[in-house]
Amino acid sequence: MQDFDKYERNRVRRLASRGQYDRKTIFEILDAGFVCHVGFVIETQPYVIPTLYGRDGNCIYLHGSPKSRMLRHLADGFPICLTVTHVDGLVLARSAFHHSINYRSAVLFGTAQEVSREEKVHALFVISEQILKGRWAEAREPNDRELRATTVLKVTIDDASAKIRTGPPVDDAEDLVLPAWAGVVPFRCQAEQPIPDPLLGKDTSPPKSVQTLFEK
Ligand SMILES: Cc1cc2nc3c(=O)[nH]c(=O)nc-3n(C[C@H](O)[C@H](O)[C@H](O)COP(=O)(O)OP(=O)(O)OC[C@H]3O[C@@H](n4cnc5c(N)ncnc54)[C@H](O)[C@@H]3O)c2cc1C
Repeated sequence: MQDFDKYERNRVRRLASRGQYDRKTIFEILDAGFVCHVGFVIETQPYVIPTLYGRDGNCIYLHGSPKSRMLRHLADGFPICLTVTHVDGLVLARSAFHHSINYRSAVLFGTAQEVSREEKVHALFVISEQILKGRWAEAREPNDRELRATTVLKVTIDDASAKIRTGPPVDDAEDLVLPAWAGVVPFRCQAEQPIPDPLLGKDTSPPKSVQTLFEK
């Protein structure tokens, strides 16, 4: 897969060695999550709004109410900045200054357009599968009324960057003799035991999609 080109807006500057531009790395970060933050400017006011997403090739699908200010604005083709972040660990150093975070993050730039009725069902499938693989086949598909009540945008990724930190703290040599504990506290986002809807019949075990989450 081809790298994204580096421009002024997507070139990592601080600790540039942590910057990556290859699609494989960036897509892996996107595929590991399902919540992004979408940044846009209306007149001179910036907004950053959390929302769900699904990746399909070099595109990101977003969905929501046709009345959503964000979706209505973005559908007009204004520029978008979209970010996804995973926290992998707290990095505890001997000095306060060298404390850090192990993370994987991606910043994307692009523009959006509203998808056709035909593409909408596919896009909703992509978003659903991004959140919980296999769930689409277990639930009722959206009907015409629900599709009319949902706007879907397709963001084409024009350029992007990833920034990744891994590994132990990087202390100053003179601090290595200090008694302070140093190391990494790993973090991860993990599903917990499912809570059945009280309206479900008795003895209904979680479906395959949910069980697969735990097998992971
Ligand atoms: C994890 C997560 C996933 C979400 N997924 C979706 C999704 O897939 N589709 C969708 O349409 N919406 C989603 N939302 C809700 C989304 O963040 C907006 O609240 C929603 O789009 C409503 O927009 P609006 O047009 O009413 O508000 P806007 O007109 O966009 O916002 C008006 C103001 O309301 C406040 N506001 C709006 N949203 C939030 C918020 N989430 N938290 C705090 N303040 C807020 C802000 O001050 C904002 O400037 C998600 C929220 C979260 C936290």
